[in-house]
Amino acid sequence: APFTYSFSLFTSLSPSQCTQLNPRRWLNLQEYQSKKLMQESGVAVQRFYVADTASEALEAAKRLNAKEIVLKAQILAGGRGKGVFDSGLKGGVHLTKDPAVVGELANKMLGFNLTTKQTPKDGVKVKTVMVAEALDISRETYFAILMDRACNGPVMVGSPQGGMDIEEVAAKSPELIFKEVIDIFEGVRDDQALRMAANLGFKGPLERQAADQIKRLYDLFLKVDATQVEVNPLGETPEGQVVCFDAKINFDDNAEFRQKAVFAMDDMTESDPTETEAAKWDLKYIGMDGNIACFVNGAGLAMATCDIIDLHGGKPANFLDLGGGVKERQVYEAFKLLTADPKVEAILVNIFGGIVNCAIIANGITKACRELELKVPLVVRLEALIGSPFTSLC
Ligand code: ADP
Ligand code: MG
Repeated sequence: APFTYSFSLFTSLSPSQCTQLNPRRWLNLQEYQSKKLMQESGVAVQRFYVADTASEALEAAKRLNAKEIVLKAQILAGGRGKGVFDSGLKGGVHLTKDPAVVGELANKMLGFNLTTKQTPKDGVKVKTVMVAEALDISRETYFAILMDRACNGPVMVGSPQGGMDIEEVAAKSPELIFKEVIDIFEGVRDDQALRMAANLGFKGPLERQAADQIKRLYDLFLKVDATQVEVNPLGETPEGQVVCFDAKINFDDNAEFRQKAVFAMDDMTESDPTETEAAKWDLKYIGMDGNIACFVNGAGLAMATCDIIDLHGGKPANFLDLGGGVKERQVYEAFKLLTADPKVEAILVNIFGGIVNCAIIANGITKACRELELKVPLVVRLEALIGSPFTSLC
C-alpha cells in the first residue's frame, strides 16, 4: 500500500529503527496536548485534567465529578490500552467510577515504565497521566488524515473496525480500510466527508455528525501544519454522539517558524538525550547501532561515509553532519558527544574543506583531544579542493 510507510499503525518498526531509516522525525505531542488543540478546533473530546502525582490525579478525579472516569498514561507511543507497567500493573488505560481508585492506579503508573508494542522493550517512563470523563462507547472506528507522498497531498484513511486491534484489521481485512484523497486546494468536500462517515459505519444523524468531525479534524490538520492526525478510536456513544477518544498528531518540522506555540509544547523528555544535545549546537546527529563514530561535514558525504564503513564490514555508531560554516566550539561539542558514547571504539573524521575551513576543524579536534582525554583511536582525513578558498589553510 502506498501509504504504509508514513502510517504509524502499520509500522512494525521500533522508534529507533524508524530513526535509522528516516532521519526526519516529526514533532510528536502527548495525547492531552493534542486534545487541547482539538478542543480549540471544535473537535469533540471529553473533559480532562492532567496530573504529575497520584494525589493530583485523585483531586482531578474528584473535580471532574463524572459518572465514570478514565485514567490514561501519557507517553508518545500507542497501544497503551494493552501495555504493561514495570510496577506489575496491566493496561495504560483504566476505567473506574471511584476517584479513590484513580489515585491508587496513578500510583502504579507514575514513575514506572510502560511497555507497549510501539515502545522499546524496556518501555517509556510515565511522568504524566490524563484524568478524563469516560463515556460508554458503543462502537469504535479508526480515522486518520496524513500527508501521503504517493497522493501528492493529504489523504483520509478510515476503518469501521477501529480500536485496539486496528493493526490486525489492517493485516487481515484490508478491505475494511477506506481511503479518500484530498485535493489540497479544494479541501475536504461534503460528499467525501459523508462517504467516509458512511464507510466508518455511522448511520442516520450520526453520519452528518461524523462528517462534521472529519471536516473539523481536517481544518485542524491544515491549521497546525500536521503531517498526521490520527484518532483511534473515533467512537460513538449510546446517546448518539461521535467523540474522539484518542489523539495522535505529528507536525511538520519545517513549519516550526510559524507554529511557535505548538513547538513550545515539545518537552523532549522522550527524545534521545544525545540527539537533543546535538540539536542545541546545530549539529545533525543520529545515533546508530555500530561502534565507529563518524564525524563528517555535509549530509551526502556523511551518508557516503556510513556506506563505505558498512561496505568494508564495519558499522557506523552514528550519523553526524557538521554542516558548512561550523565554528570551533561546535567541533568541540560534537567530539564531546561522540566520545561520551560508550559504544564508540574508534572515530573517523572525514572532512571536505570546500565548505569549511580545515583549520577550524583541526583546532577544534586538537582542543577536544587535549581536554577530553581521548581513549579510542582517531583517524582523520581533511581534504580541500584545489582552488577552493580554504586550500591554503589545509
Ligand atoms: P491506546 O491507543 O494507546 O491503547 P486509547 O486512548 O485508544 O489508547 O485507549 C484504549 C481504549 O480505551 C480505547 O480503545 C477505548 O476503548 C478506551 N477508552 C479510551 N478513552 C476512553 C474514554 N474517555 N471513555 C471510555 N473508554 C475510553
Ligand atoms: Mg488508541
